[in-house]
Amino acid sequence: MKRSTLFPTLALALSLVSWSHAAESTGDAFHGDAPDDHHPWAVHDRNRPQPPVVTPGTFSTQDTPGKPPSDAIILFGGTEADVSKWEADKNPAEPTKWIVKDGAFQCVPGSGYVRTKEEFGDCQLHVEWTAPTEVHGDSQGRGNSGVFLMGLVEIQVLDNYKNPTYADGFASSVYGQYAPYANALRAPGEWESYDIVFRRPIWKDGKEIAHGSVTVFVNGVLTQDHSRIEGPTGHAKRTDPTKAFPDKGPLKLQDHGNPVRYRNIWLRTLPPRTIEGGDNGALSTEATKAKRHEIATSLREKAASLQGREKLLGLLESLTYEADPAALSTAKEMATADADAISKIPTDQLESHKGQILQLHNALQYLTKFNDLPADFPPTVTVAKIVKDNKLDKKKK
Ligand code: MG
Repeated sequence: MKRSTLFPTLALALSLVSWSHAAESTGDAFHGDAPDDHHPWAVHDRNRPQPPVVTPGTFSTQDTPGKPPSDAIILFGGTEADVSKWEADKNPAEPTKWIVKDGAFQCVPGSGYVRTKEEFGDCQLHVEWTAPTEVHGDSQGRGNSGVFLMGLVEIQVLDNYKNPTYADGFASSVYGQYAPYANALRAPGEWESYDIVFRRPIWKDGKEIAHGSVTVFVNGVLTQDHSRIEGPTGHAKRTDPTKAFPDKGPLKLQDHGNPVRYRNIWLRTLPPRTIEGGDNGALSTEATKAKRHEIATSLREKAASLQGREKLLGLLESLTYEADPAALSTAKEMATADADAISKIPTDQLESHKGQILQLHNALQYLTKFNDLPADFPPTVTVAKIVKDNKLDKKKK
C-alpha cells in the first residue's frame, strides 16, 4: 500500500533503472535481416563468433626465409630436427635420404618421394623451392619436383625459367590438368614461393558430393584460381574421376631426379566446408535449425540470470532464432508490463526516457517484421503509437 503513495513517476523511474544497462549488453535490437532456413545468424549478428586471432608472419627475402603465421604447422623450418616430420614414401619404416643443407631440405636423386607423417585435408600451404643453379637438361628434365597435395594431386615444381615445356606440365600447373595462368618464375638458384589453397574433393558413399579445387600464387602472382580437381594426378593419362578421395593424406614432395631444394614449408588447416546443403556453401535446413536452437538456448540460459529489460530483450532476441512457447509467454507478459509502464509516463517526461522506449519499440518491431510476433500484439501497438505521436524516432533539429 505504501508504494501507491509514492509519486507515480518516481515509482516508474525506479522501475526503469534496470533499463539503462540493457543497450550495452544487447547492442542493436536486434541485427540486420533475421536468421532463415539457411542462415543461422542474422546479418551483422553480434552472437556470431569472433574469428580467431592469428598473428601474421613475415615475407621471405632471397636471403632469409620469412616467419610463418602463429597458427601454422611448420613442416620444414630449416633444421635437421624438421626431418623427423617426414618419411620415405616408398618405405616409411626407413628415414628419408633427402638431406638438410644450408637450411634447405634437398632432394637426393634416386631416393624417392618424401611425405609428411601427418596427414592433411583442406589447407593453406606455403612452400619455397629453388632449382639447381647449374642448369642441366630442358623441358621436364630441368629442376623437376612436385608438391603432391594429399599425396594425390601434383602442383608441378619445374625450372621453367626460359625453359618451355607442355603447358599442363609447367611450374604450378595442376599436372596434366590445368596450365598456370602465367609463368612468374625467377632464375634458377633464386627462391620461388608457392602459396596454395587446397580444397579436397569430398566423397560420400562412393560419390563426389563437393568439388575439390586448388588456388596457387607463384611469387605472389595468381596462377590457379579454384581450378577444379578432376582426380588424382597421372602421367600422360586423363585422371580417373571415379576414384574416391580420402578425407586426408600426407603432403608429398617429388623426387624427379633433380636436386631441387625446399625451405619454409608450413601449412594451416582450414575449417571444414559447410556442404550439407550442397556445394554452394549453404547450410542445410537441418544444420541451420540445430545451430539456431543452440544460439536460442544460450540466450535463454543467459536471460534466466537477468532481470527486467535485459531479461526481456534476451528472451525476445532468443525468439528470433527459435520459437519457444515458454520464452514467448514470459516475454509477452514482461513486454505488456513494460508497455504499460511506458504508457503511464507523462508526455513531458517521454523525451528523457526515449532511449529505453525506442529500445523496446525497435525490438518489438524487429520481431513483428520477421513474423516472430503478430503485428497486433498489444504492447507493440501501444509503444508504436507513443513513439509516433511524440515523434520519438525522429532526430531533433
Ligand atoms: Mg614433377
